[in-house]
Amino acid sequence: MEVEYYPDQWETLSEYRRSLDYLILGQHNVYFDSVSVYSINDGDTLHRYVDMLEKACERNLCDYIAHPDVALYRYQRLDGSVRECAARIADISLKYNMPLELNAGSGVQRGMYRFPDGLRYPYPTRVFFEEFARKKCPIIIGLDVHDPRRFLDDTALMRALSVIADLDCNILEDFDLVEAARKRKKEFR
Ligand SMILES: [Zn+2]
Repeated sequence: MEVEYYPDQWETLSEYRRSLDYLILGQHNVYFDSVSVYSINDGDTLHRYVDMLEKACERNLCDYIAHPDVALYRYQRLDGSVRECAARIADISLKYNMPLELNAGSGVQRGMYRFPDGLRYPYPTRVFFEEFARKKCPIIIGLDVHDPRRFLDDTALMRALSVIADLDCNILEDFDLVEAARKRKKEFR
C-alpha cells in the first residue's frame, strides 16, 4: 500500500506497518491535510517535503519511495533548490538503502507541459535522476497504473525512460520487496 508520513497520524501508520507486507511512501501533502505537493513552487517548501521523506525513512515506515519528484509537479523553474533536494534524497536513499522510483504515472501520461524553463514532463525530472545516477542510488521502475488496461500500453513507460536516457542509473531488475520489508519491520518501533 502507498502511505504518507504524518507524525500526528503515527498510530494509524503503525497499524498499517505491522499488518501489511510492505509499505510504499507516496507523499502527496507536506502536512496532514495541508500543502499539497501539486502546489509547491519554492525551495523552502520543497525542502520541507524532503524532510518528510527523511523522517519516514528514519522511522522505518516504508520500503521504497514512490515518485520522489512528484513535488515538482507545479515547480516552474528547476532552480538550485531542486538540485539540492535531489542530492538530499539521494543521500537518504544511500543511508537507509531505500529504492527510489522512476514513476511512469500521471507525470508522463498527460504529456509534456511548457514551463517557464522549457518543455518537459512535470515528473520524473532529469535533475533528480542525474543526482541519483551519480550516487548509484537503487532505482525501481514503477508503472503506477490506476487502471489495469494501462499494462497493455508502454507509452508512459517509454516516456519515463526517455527522461533518464544516457544516465547510468542503478536500476534494480529483481528486488524482493517483501523480504526487504521483513528486515525493516524488525527495526520498526
Ligand atoms: Zn502517488
